[in-house]
Amino acid sequence: MIPIAKPILGKEEKEAVLAVLDSGMLAQGKKVQEFEESFARFIGTKHAIATTNGTTALHAALQALGIKEGDEVITSPFTFAATGNTIRMVGATPVFVDIDPATFNIDSRLLEKAITPMTKAIMPVHLFGKTAEMGKICEIAKKHGLSIIEDACQAHGAAIEGKKAGSFGTACFSFYATKNMTTGEGGMVTTDDDDVAAAVRKFINHGSWKRYHHDSVGHNFRMTDLAAAIGCEQLRKIGQFNAKRRENAAFLTKNLKEVAGLVVPEVSEEHVYHQYTLRITDRFPCSRDEVSSLLTEKGIGNATFYPVPLHQQQSFAEYNSLSFPEAEKAAREVLSIPVHPEVTQQQLQQIVAVLRSIR
Ligand SMILES: *Cc1c(COP(=O)(O)O)cnc(C)c1O
Repeated sequence: MIPIAKPILGKEEKEAVLAVLDSGMLAQGKKVQEFEESFARFIGTKHAIATTNGTTALHAALQALGIKEGDEVITSPFTFAATGNTIRMVGATPVFVDIDPATFNIDSRLLEKAITPMTKAIMPVHLFGKTAEMGKICEIAKKHGLSIIEDACQAHGAAIEGKKAGSFGTACFSFYATKNMTTGEGGMVTTDDDDVAAAVRKFINHGSWKRYHHDSVGHNFRMTDLAAAIGCEQLRKIGQFNAKRRENAAFLTKNLKEVAGLVVPEVSEEHVYHQYTLRITDRFPCSRDEVSSLLTEKGIGNATFYPVPLHQQQSFAEYNSLSFPEAEKAAREVLSIPVHPEVTQQQLQQIVAVLRSIR
């Protein structure tokens, strides 16, 4: 089976974890600080604050920006549940704006119409490793005095017009096992804003400003040195990982772009192909689900991210009567196929051959 995702861990990660175990300092210490400093340098922000996972990073960022009950946060309905859930966790109301079918990201042309006096922030998601249209989004945010919280959980190292995803406002990353780089579970908030950084740090550490002195309530969302030790090593490799993903994606696009009924991702140096996602349109000889079964039968991992847009989830019942046609269409058509750095040339050829053989 060619897996759809695979964490790539070498002797560097193993040695780094063993060194932490040998040190006897397992919770937060030097390794977390080292990981934060190197991640901030990588993204080009003043601050980076490590957390337990991407979801708690989003939660802490929203909290730090003062987003609360009665506030609205504009986001995409075509994303992982954590994007919408965390907005609700702080008591705020998600407001969905449909996606641009060409990018799967929030459609900046529809953004302004969704702004109300209650809007406090825009949370664009850089889905599948493709950065949202940040130039336009930042312009709109500035004009209306809104915060930006990037959900960059799938976009480590991605960029748009030469500027890194995660450097446009306050941003959140995930280091879950399937992401472009991993710590098992882990997260990071990046920001240039000193106050936001301080508020995130306090919220993830029990609302404590000095040991055993608390001026607000908070959580324990701290990363461990064990996770950070893995993160430091992964960060040295992310450039190579992403380069290999781009090479694999370019091969797939070159060999699949003329197949009638398939829509393939663009070839771009700024995309990090967290997923290589096809659209199986109704001009293709068989349905998305039939393609999925056939690939599985041939030992080729595949998955639909995401089969149900957030506004159609049971957990978002009050949104179920709303309609976001492009998100719904994408949910019906998308299928992701293996693109991770350990997919071999021979496997890529096999994937292409199977897809091209369907009549
Ligand atoms: C993975 C992911 C998250 C959540 O990250 P976890 O580390 O799994 O909590 C949030 N948003 C998006 C778009 C993701 O892909």
